[in-house]
Amino acid sequence: MESRKIVEESEQFLATSTRELPLVLDRGEGVWLYDVDGNKYLDFTSGIGVNNLGWPSHPEVIRAAEAQMKKLAHSMGNDFYNVPQLELAKKLVQLTPGEFPKKVFFSNSGTEAVEASIKLIKQSDPKRKYLIAFIGSFHGRTFGSLSLTASRPVQKYLFGPTLPGVFHIPYPNPFRNPWHINGYEDPDSLINAVLEYLESWVFAHLVDPEEVAGIIFEPIQGEGGYVVPPKGFFSQLEKTARKYGIYLIDDEVQMGMGRTGKMFAIENFNSTPDVITLAKALGGGLYPIGATVFRKDLDFKKKGMHSNTFGGNAVACAIGVKTLEIVKELLPRVNELGKLFQEELTQMKVDDVRGLGLAWGIEFVRGERKEPDTKTRDKVIEESFKKGLLLLPAGKSAIRIIPPLVISEEEAKVGLSILKEVINSLR
Ligand code: PMP
Repeated sequence: MESRKIVEESEQFLATSTRELPLVLDRGEGVWLYDVDGNKYLDFTSGIGVNNLGWPSHPEVIRAAEAQMKKLAHSMGNDFYNVPQLELAKKLVQLTPGEFPKKVFFSNSGTEAVEASIKLIKQSDPKRKYLIAFIGSFHGRTFGSLSLTASRPVQKYLFGPTLPGVFHIPYPNPFRNPWHINGYEDPDSLINAVLEYLESWVFAHLVDPEEVAGIIFEPIQGEGGYVVPPKGFFSQLEKTARKYGIYLIDDEVQMGMGRTGKMFAIENFNSTPDVITLAKALGGGLYPIGATVFRKDLDFKKKGMHSNTFGGNAVACAIGVKTLEIVKELLPRVNELGKLFQEELTQMKVDDVRGLGLAWGIEFVRGERKEPDTKTRDKVIEESFKKGLLLLPAGKSAIRIIPPLVISEEEAKVGLSILKEVINSLR
């Protein structure tokens, strides 16, 4: 009963109030986590998208980290140079979509990667100061990225007003079309409706598109509910953006690093962003890291315009290099296993299943208007936890299913059968 005591004390001393499960972690091994009482859990959360290579990390990544740690860790990456930082930058430039010269800015988290992207595009053209983001999006909790975030009101309302000059538009959610109007069911109509809203409402009445610097999006909305947009959406959005000279920022913090079966999720959508933000799994589950990869002509105009203390840490970057190598090798199996997840999940008593690779969302709703069934969703998470399966919510009534990419078929089946049993007992 060590756990209970630590939970009670933690609630007293720690300011984190977003805890979903009363779990006190002790150690991890592959896809398995153990609490301080020795209970074992199968992880279908990947430590919310960080442990794509399992727990504590892939042995080769641990070796790379150890070797680098003995040489140099903190290395003032924004003041001096170091070799792992250069290697990781080159690798990211090579792996990210876009056959144009690119540069990389390193930081320590997703929100910092997004902050850097905001600054980059805002200084790119003095007459472009506005930003477009999507309803349901999550881009972080520091003030710039919070201003772009629009997934859970509690994260935002009491802190306002946030950054001025941000306009939010609906995200093309094929399961719950944002207008609640019949007629947007097919993917093309949904795409057109969103772009029509952008052009005929936002650009026509609220902001001159010639003053918009960028549109930021998640290729699949993560915190907002694991929402997969129609295949053609981003290429259409790109056309609109190019027409007005607006830059596209692709936030891959949660969906990048192999999660969707491609190295970066946007590769599933035939579109090329100008800026890509990365964090979470790039640190191999071992170290914090953030990276902003951008087309070179967007580079900061003056030295010292943006910087930080810890970005470019040599250990974090050595880990990043090895992590990307291993993720690349895992991609075929991510796609293969993804099929198993799709097959099994679509047979469960859930109201929607969507996903790519090993990023799946299931949703629970009520009635014709698809009212979010938060109660059932929360109960599924709670009951699964009691049976040793870790799940986390997304949006109002979805569950994200994101096992580490190293999960075996047998382990996947163990988790899926717990989930099925729990849902059957509740519906
Ligand atoms: N962008 C996306 C898409 C995210 O999912 C998150 C974290 N959930 C962030 C940014 C912020 O990352 P961090 O928590 O590392 O600041």
